[in-house]
Amino acid sequence: MKFIADGMLGKLTRWLRMLGHNVKYSNKLDDVQLIAIAKKERRVLLTRDLELFQQATAKGVQAFYVDGKNEAENLAKISQKFGINLEVDMKRSRCPKCNTQVKPISKEKVSGKVKETTYTHYDEFWECPKCGQIYWQGAHWTRIRKTLETAKELSKKEKA
Ligand SMILES: [Zn+2]
Repeated sequence: MKFIADGMLGKLTRWLRMLGHNVKYSNKLDDVQLIAIAKKERRVLLTRDLELFQQATAKGVQAFYVDGKNEAENLAKISQKFGINLEVDMKRSRCPKCNTQVKPISKEKVSGKVKETTYTHYDEFWECPKCGQIYWQGAHWTRIRKTLETAKELSKKEKA
């Protein structure tokens, strides 16, 4: 499933890309362009703007109105609606910055590209072939996992 997100959903875009979804995002696109791209590329339009949601739906574009109070709530709702798995699988994960699928990279190859403490503490790294960004499951992953756990619980509750 492919998405396009409106300019207010930069954060959610990064989450969905990390979860392996193809999400087009630019804060320079106006409503008309968003709807046109969604239609042409068969993307689901994610929007925080009720009016845009209604316009898109009226034009036959599949859209989802994102109205959660925080990222966990948004992820829970999207997961419910589209059956999205709230687990990060690095084999499918996309670069949060540029939407390209990341590739594993050997530890030796990141030497000098990441901080020495990072290099010492971690053995698994991924690289974005497009923008060159290097990823690892560092300290910030505790927070990522926590948000996903919260989202999973919310999603379960909503189902029940
Ligand atoms: Zn990238």
